[in-house]
Amino acid sequence: MLIVQKYGGTSVGTLERIDAVAERVIKTKKEGNKVVVIVSAMSGVTNRLIEYANFFTNEPLGREMDLLLSAGERVTSSLLAIALSAKGYPAIAFSGRQAGMITDHFHTKARISAINPENINKALQDDKIVVVAGFQGVDENGDVTTLGRGGSDLSAVAIAGAINADVCEIYTDVDGVYTTDPRIEPKAKKLDQVSYDEMLELASLGAKVLQNRSVELAKKLNVNLITRSSFNDHEGTLITGEEKMEDAIISGIALDRNQARITVRKVVDRPGVAAEIFSALAKEEINVDMIIQNVGRDGTTNLGFTVPENELHKAYEIIQKVNPNSGEVIESDNEIVKVSIVGVGMKSHSGVASLAFQTLADEGINIQMISTSEIKISMIINEKYGELAVRALHKAYNLDK
Ligand code: ADP
Ligand code: ASP
Ligand code: MG
Repeated sequence: MLIVQKYGGTSVGTLERIDAVAERVIKTKKEGNKVVVIVSAMSGVTNRLIEYANFFTNEPLGREMDLLLSAGERVTSSLLAIALSAKGYPAIAFSGRQAGMITDHFHTKARISAINPENINKALQDDKIVVVAGFQGVDENGDVTTLGRGGSDLSAVAIAGAINADVCEIYTDVDGVYTTDPRIEPKAKKLDQVSYDEMLELASLGAKVLQNRSVELAKKLNVNLITRSSFNDHEGTLITGEEKMEDAIISGIALDRNQARITVRKVVDRPGVAAEIFSALAKEEINVDMIIQNVGRDGTTNLGFTVPENELHKAYEIIQKVNPNSGEVIESDNEIVKVSIVGVGMKSHSGVASLAFQTLADEGINIQMISTSEIKISMIINEKYGELAVRALHKAYNLDK
């Protein structure tokens, strides 16, 4: 079999951990498989590099930022290849560029445009273990780019797709995908199987066990994705195209702390104003999530929307520039979180949303914004109550049973 394995930050967090990863890779190789390994930076390294840059400015240059951040993954990929070779298993490390990972030029959140897996395929033919630095690529100018936080998952899925791997295994510090973050609710249960669609919602709504774009791509390319622990041999979670036949209405609860809200008050109520505001944000690649508009009585409206917390500053400046109405008041609030319940069974059951609202009401938690789709309900609440809400909802939907 041709197997892609991705090891996250904690899994390569120390030299001893890298050694343990090397042993696991060797075991896979000895079983007669060809192996391509994608690695993250050692845990904490990416954050530290960001802090280093922030020592000088809060708005570092994107190009230099990416060159800086890509260093973390280069360290681990080189070390793992060195460790493997030292153990008698020929290995070769590639940077994103050497692995043929071509992206657009949006620094710190680049999108993959193509993969040229020639080097990888050649090395596999030579019977080498291939180790690729995750999270990074190169744009058409030859500048290094990175794929957004958690982007090594995306590197792994993209490479698995490009070389037609039989399976893409994501090794992390928990046994798989749980009904909610086991660090928030210790009673969370591991799921044996979850559909691409549910996983995509969970990941997009804050369950960082898999990066959302990696799930999207896995679905598109039909990559067999498995999440499991690098610390034991427990069975992980299979992410598949099948929707389970069991009758679980809800499969999980997610908490997204990276949320902030902008409210523009007294916007003139005329056609085109919303288009003006949101196209200005879209042009700068800012991801707007929930939108609420309240119609006032005096011909003006209040427009509220959420953006990722780390883009609040930029979004705020853009809105000020657009200046939808001279007298407006713009407010920003980053003391919010989004809690969501996800499940394909919601489509065919009623009363799912009302139970969520009642559960939060019983805890005295005020819901500030709501959005729903066929398979999820999201609520914006004060960040103080985020974990409490997760636990209360987890219990209300019997996910601990
Ligand atoms: P890695 O460094 O391996 O990429 P991450 O920290 O990105 O690992 O993701 C793993 C973490 O995701 C877990 O430690 C866990 O706290 C968190 N997590 C959030 N939601 C879930 C969930 N539903 N199931 C499992 N883990 C989750
Ligand atoms: N090192 C990067 C991050 O911390 C990418 C990853 O770990 O997937 O976001
Ligand atoms: Mg991750």
